[in-house]
Amino acid sequence: MKKVGFIGWRGMVGSVLMERMRQENDFDGLDAVFFTTSQVGQAGPDEQPLRDAKDVTALMEMDILVSCQGGDYTKAIHPGLRAAGWQGYWVDAASALRMSEDSIVVLDPVNRKLIDQGLEKGIKDFIGGNCTVSLMLMGLQGLFDAGLVEWMTAMTYQSASGAGAKNMKELVMQMADVGSAGRELAADPASEVLELDRLISAKLNDGSLPIDQFGAPLAASLIPWIDSALDCGRTREEWKGMVETNRILGTEADPIRVDGQCVRVGAMRCHSQALTLKLKKDLPLAEIERLIADANEWVRLVPNRKEETLAQLTPAAVSGHLHVPVGRLRKTVIGPEYITCFTVGDQLLWGAAEPVRRMLMILLGRL
Ligand code: NAP
Repeated sequence: MKKVGFIGWRGMVGSVLMERMRQENDFDGLDAVFFTTSQVGQAGPDEQPLRDAKDVTALMEMDILVSCQGGDYTKAIHPGLRAAGWQGYWVDAASALRMSEDSIVVLDPVNRKLIDQGLEKGIKDFIGGNCTVSLMLMGLQGLFDAGLVEWMTAMTYQSASGAGAKNMKELVMQMADVGSAGRELAADPASEVLELDRLISAKLNDGSLPIDQFGAPLAASLIPWIDSALDCGRTREEWKGMVETNRILGTEADPIRVDGQCVRVGAMRCHSQALTLKLKKDLPLAEIERLIADANEWVRLVPNRKEETLAQLTPAAVSGHLHVPVGRLRKTVIGPEYITCFTVGDQLLWGAAEPVRRMLMILLGRL
């Protein structure tokens, strides 16, 4: 029985991974060992004492390590493990190793061929992709598979949970503070709406909201900046859009141009994206719809109508689900090859935990 070590199992991504593995009975037939960076000796999910995630000797006993702990952990531990001669498989949700020559970025419905080729070549590091990139590719796989995309812009609306467990809690605390500040006036039908507006604006700016994680109020606001600054005015999150799309597709030699703005919004879970694409040729809309809808078993085409959009194309509707709806699809006035659409996906499922879970299943020969 393969020994599989799990690190980061209680964080946002790790908890969802655990939930999915239990749902699919994935723990049957593997010897799971749980590690922690902060709770050594306390009871883990299997009631066994948690092992030290910084103990390289203990980690080296594992055939496969699955980390949802974060990039700093990967950078601190992975090089030492490899230098010490560990030959096991490393499966990771963090970005630290995505650009390494010795890794494959995994999204198996889209790039199973690259994964299989990597396994044959002896690649040992398999890394989940950026959440918005993975969700975009799950939604628009049909257009990429058909070689139709000349370039794309992705304007994102990313949820609080994309930044981790602490950020999610901070958003709820901000919402609670804003809600209690405005509750009385909002509930009073006779109150002046401008008074309510002034009250909430003052609350957002008086320095009383908790902002340790986000650095600014997110409740009743948004933050058009995710991750660190890079050259050319892009954030690292925006930079990932192009490099990771091409890395997953294996098109790095002749890259498809992707750019956009990444924005944090007050959604709890699920990342949304407004996409504009230039196709290489003018195709009838029905053909574009067919290509998108038939690409994989998770994508769902939502008719471009208000009723279906409100019911099916929101974070509230998609949260906790594996399907990836694509809607608001139409040609733009810019020209017949220019199309636009909107997609929402659960960034903790297909955007993080699911590709990692499925890679583990591939390594165990179950997928
Ligand atoms: P996270 O929720 O912050 O969890 C990371 C670790 O923080 C946990 O494993 C836990 O480690 C520790 N921790 C400290 N206080 C905690 C608390 N109150 N509740 C839970 N855990 C706590 O991070 P994450 O969002 O899962 O992200 C992990 C990695 O996946 C990152 O590299 C991230 O960039 C990547 N990723 C995240 C998403 C997403 O949507 N969140 C999507 C794709 C990729 P110990 O048990 O060792 O203390």
